[in-house]
Amino acid sequence: PAERVLSVQLVPFDSTRKLLLSRDITRLDRVQTVHRDFIANVSHELRTPLTVVSGFAETLMDMPEMDAATRTQQLGLMVEQTQRMQRLVDDLLTLSRLENGQQLKEEEVDVPQLMRLLQAEAEGLSQGRHRVAVAQLATTRLIGNHDELHSALSNLVSNAIRYTPAGGGITLSWLVEDGQPVFAVSDTGIGISPEHIPRLTERFYRVDRSRSRTTGGTGLGLAIVKHILQRHQAELAIDSKPGTGSRFAVRFPAHRLLPD
Ligand code: ADP
Repeated sequence: PAERVLSVQLVPFDSTRKLLLSRDITRLDRVQTVHRDFIANVSHELRTPLTVVSGFAETLMDMPEMDAATRTQQLGLMVEQTQRMQRLVDDLLTLSRLENGQQLKEEEVDVPQLMRLLQAEAEGLSQGRHRVAVAQLATTRLIGNHDELHSALSNLVSNAIRYTPAGGGITLSWLVEDGQPVFAVSDTGIGISPEHIPRLTERFYRVDRSRSRTTGGTGLGLAIVKHILQRHQAELAIDSKPGTGSRFAVRFPAHRLLPD
């Protein structure tokens, strides 16, 4: 728990006495700090790619005689950094839309179809570098929003691929436990030390900044996942062991399950 922050004020009570007023501003202070940190983080995340893009653009302008291979290489880096900024802005928009809290549009989600989509995405991202297995123990229909669930679960799948070295494996599973639908992604990747686990869904929290960036991460994925799952009254459980792998499991409430 954060330290309490009190605002203390002496106000005139009558001609001879004064009154000591104290107000608890702990929460307000915390909200302001989180907001300030968020702006600082976004600015920092945009600054690096912007510096790269403007630097190369200036070089290209100043050196019209540059050889074609170098020029192509520099343009390639500019495209890469622009795409990084695009991903960041897309994730920021998604988060802000979720935070504005429009009511969830519920529909019947075809789980086997969603699983096939996630498997295809995993294989596309892996490009043959990992074993991708699917263990679908139940064919279920779920009540929820297809696009939001797809976005949350594919975030977990892409993390599993990005944090698992080539040669490793990931398994997507969908089961029903105690009447509750559960979606899980297990990987044999780098794993996460226990002290980081409670903070992973914070915006821009990363265990290893440079690794997250080089694999194309924005640091916002799990924050988006958390919001979407909250809207579905679902819970995220993370089990992980450094050097061995991780399991991210999403448990939905029983009432979201439709009988087959
Ligand atoms: P990022 O864009 O950095 O991947 P996320 O919000 O998706 O952001 O994840 C936050 C952090 O959690 C990551 O930077 C990484 O350190 C850690 N993480 C997420 N998924 C995994 C995983 N499957 N294995 C190991 N670490 C993970």
